[in-house]
Amino acid sequence: MIRLLLALLCFTLSPFAHAAPAPDAAAGLADLRAADARVLTIGYRLATRNAPFCRVTENASGMTLHHIGQYGDVAAARATFGFAREYAVLALVADGPAAKAGVQIDDALVAVNGSSLQPTAAQLAAIDQPAAYRPIAWADATLRAALDTAPVRLSVLRDGAAVDVTLTGVRACRSRFELRPTSDYGASADGDIVSITSAMLGFMADDDELAAILAHEMAHNLLEHRRRLNDAGIQRGLMQQLGRNAQLTLATEIEADRLSIWLMANAGFDPAGAVRFWTRYGKQRGKGIFSAPTHYRWKKRVALFEEEMAKLAAAHRQPEGWMPPLLAETPPPLQ
Ligand SMILES: [Zn+2]
Repeated sequence: MIRLLLALLCFTLSPFAHAAPAPDAAAGLADLRAADARVLTIGYRLATRNAPFCRVTENASGMTLHHIGQYGDVAAARATFGFAREYAVLALVADGPAAKAGVQIDDALVAVNGSSLQPTAAQLAAIDQPAAYRPIAWADATLRAALDTAPVRLSVLRDGAAVDVTLTGVRACRSRFELRPTSDYGASADGDIVSITSAMLGFMADDDELAAILAHEMAHNLLEHRRRLNDAGIQRGLMQQLGRNAQLTLATEIEADRLSIWLMANAGFDPAGAVRFWTRYGKQRGKGIFSAPTHYRWKKRVALFEEEMAKLAAAHRQPEGWMPPLLAETPPPLQ
């Protein structure tokens, strides 16, 4: 439910559904892997290149794991991905830490620092996610915690052989990026994870446009919008469309749009990708006067992006990039 509400917070599109964990045809699964790798790679670049400017950072692995339970058709998932154990490596950033350490696609993950990857029922029940995603959320959290204190020893199974790999993460803004396979258009941020649907991904003309959407969602996480809206007593759901609820939600959307431009530039993406995406998307799918009061209509968003790009062009570039004004100080309470 929380994800549905946050999806509304971010995009006033068709509701964000979780009914279909994955398309199960082998070709569909191969496409899914390529799409996951694309989201991972763009997200990793945004998170690592902006790390010098983020208040909260972590050590990123540059890999996406998956769990056999995510797939409706287990036999098809095994045929495509192997899954010698319940967890396996779905995608890697080509030059990322995991790939450099020797991790390979379809390695089955057995243990982290000697502890077998086996969540308890209580650990899974405590995770605020749809049931099919809880095992992977637990494994991700376990790995992220391990990476933050020291290099991690991963025990994997590769073609039946046990292999140990030592993985050292790279500093990154704290945000994880994931693809949700569904025909609904949407993207969301829950304070930690950035999600984009496969339908939305299919709408992207190029990596700059994808970076624009991921940067907007990452901005929601970096600016702690979920916490700040909660602190301000904002009501979610239909009530969020009214009065002060809508006004403060709109304020967070404007902040996320502004920050996204700087995040894109620091990661070497063309910020004009945001303009191109919203112009095309707005013309084809925008709701015009039926737009929700929590979001600017697309023309106003495009004007906002252009205003922010002008500020960026006039700003001093430090050796590691541009200091985004919205990250320069602790975000104030929303009011
Ligand atoms: Zn948003």
